[in-house]
Amino acid sequence: MINRAENSCIGIIGAGPIGLALAARLAGFGIKSVILDRSAHLLPKGSKACLIQGDALEVLDKIGCADPIAEEGIHWRTARTYIRNVERITQEFPERAGYGEFVNISQYRIEQELLAWVENHSLVQVCWSHEVIGYNQGKNQVTVTAKTPSIEKDFNFDYLVACDGVGSTMRKLTGVKFNGYTHKDRFLITDIKANIPLTKERHFHFDPDFNRGRQLVMHPQPNNIWRIDWQLSPDADIEAEKANGKLDARIKAVIGDIPYNIEWLSTYRFNQCVIEKFKIGNIFFAGDAAHSFPPYGSRGMNSGLADADNLAWKMAAVLKGHADESLLDSYHTERFDAAQENLRVTEATIKFMVPPTPLKRLVRNIKLSLSVLWKGMRGQVDHGKMTQPYTYKQSALIDTSDSRFVGQFSPDVAIFVDGKKTRLRKLMGQSFLCFYVGELQGLAEFSKQAELLNNYANVTFVAAFPVGDEIGQVPDNIDVVRYDDILFFETLKCGDRSMYVFRPDSHIASHNQVSSGMDINQIIACASGCEAIPVDMAKAS
Ligand SMILES: Cc1cc2nc3c(=O)[nH]c(=O)nc-3n(C[C@H](O)[C@H](O)[C@H](O)COP(=O)(O)OP(=O)(O)OC[C@H]3O[C@@H](n4cnc5c(N)ncnc54)[C@H](O)[C@@H]3O)c2cc1C
Repeated sequence: MINRAENSCIGIIGAGPIGLALAARLAGFGIKSVILDRSAHLLPKGSKACLIQGDALEVLDKIGCADPIAEEGIHWRTARTYIRNVERITQEFPERAGYGEFVNISQYRIEQELLAWVENHSLVQVCWSHEVIGYNQGKNQVTVTAKTPSIEKDFNFDYLVACDGVGSTMRKLTGVKFNGYTHKDRFLITDIKANIPLTKERHFHFDPDFNRGRQLVMHPQPNNIWRIDWQLSPDADIEAEKANGKLDARIKAVIGDIPYNIEWLSTYRFNQCVIEKFKIGNIFFAGDAAHSFPPYGSRGMNSGLADADNLAWKMAAVLKGHADESLLDSYHTERFDAAQENLRVTEATIKFMVPPTPLKRLVRNIKLSLSVLWKGMRGQVDHGKMTQPYTYKQSALIDTSDSRFVGQFSPDVAIFVDGKKTRLRKLMGQSFLCFYVGELQGLAEFSKQAELLNNYANVTFVAAFPVGDEIGQVPDNIDVVRYDDILFFETLKCGDRSMYVFRPDSHIASHNQVSSGMDINQIIACASGCEAIPVDMAKAS
């Protein structure tokens, strides 16, 4: 395996949130990329994906863009569901370390932050007004043709990633199938600026007075903007409503007779589609180009960011010679499974919200009526399951132990590094992290294992001990962090000598007990999709 990172370049089509995040993550690994976008510049397009889930925000944190978003956004962890105008279900999400459960902010603000970051980075070039119109794929190279206002240009890349949105040109050019369907019902989505006397949380309505027989969802945004989505009746004509005052009445029925301003308005039909292959040779698909879901649960941008994080570390590992080319095949396996799971969840929600037959509508309405009377029925009301990172249980990169942790996105807990309080997840992102939690006696064996990979740059070794515990001299190949929180212990310590392997995308590749029978080379090789880490790379020089 050779290191070809310095002379390689990744082509990315699309400067949406996913293309930008991918370029930034790749740059963080020292990998060059060029983004081609057909727009002349970043366009404000309304809130679009208006919620970023706390774990997806961690992807931005690895780039260094999360804090402004977290500071500006609206944090919430209570979802209120109303049936016929009365609140019946109140879902509280637990308080947690890091960025919390959900942050509401417009997608455009996330794009602005990411764009500012990539524009200041020498490893990323953004080419606006470059519309990709053709491609040619060789064995080790992909050539794309982009149309600019004046000429057509060819670009050569080691890999190409299509982040060109739901109408993906690359999908059409390659002919790869986008399996699924577009829903018949239309939705009206608006950003409304108004001083609405409501708690800044998610408010979801089934069959309210102001949208009889249908749904409505409200999400607070910064600056007193509320994202309000109506499920429309088939005969609703929003253009006519604008002219005849019905739109004003529609809005006031929801927010009351208060001053308001419409900042953005759009109607749309949602899709339930997933691409058949996330990878075709050296061409990859990510974000909406690969999957498109209804917005309930906010699985669009959030899962796209997970695509970018998954692909970036794998491309970097391959280009730097830390892993075989075959590691990239796992991008399809892992992210296709995640997309299928999203599809299953959103399909169930949509079937509940928009029952496909009169009989199913009747059954749904009975469930809603019963849930008004009987608390036990409320679990049957599907108001949209909020997005969560996918657990890669089936992936060949994940160890086969029966630990409940493997495949999961890492939990987060407070730690101290050099006396300063930080979080476990802050240690992740650049390489594999082998993390030891357990009794002091296990440290010698952990260090022995670390020595076996002394020369392998793609892994760091860290051991955690309670604050104030005397631990004596620690071997040079181990960094020590401290904890003083009972939560840390409860969250992570599952045995006397636990070792976790966190991947750069923060998923847990392995959870073992440190012992003399353990084979660290094999564990890291498995997580990298290789048979073994080559001896010259692994052993101490
Ligand atoms: C009206 C609306 C409301 C939405 N609401 C929500 C929501 O509430 N929650 C949620 O999670 N998601 C929502 N989404 C989905 C969310 O916006 C997407 O998941 C997100 O934008 C995906 O980002 P992306 O980078 O994959 O694609 P996009 O943001 O679509 O970016 C694609 C980029 O590719 C460029 N491009 C396209 N074709 C070419 C080409 N041939 N050559 C060069 N460049 C090209 C485009 O100019 C664009 O910049 C909504 C979407 C819409 C349209």
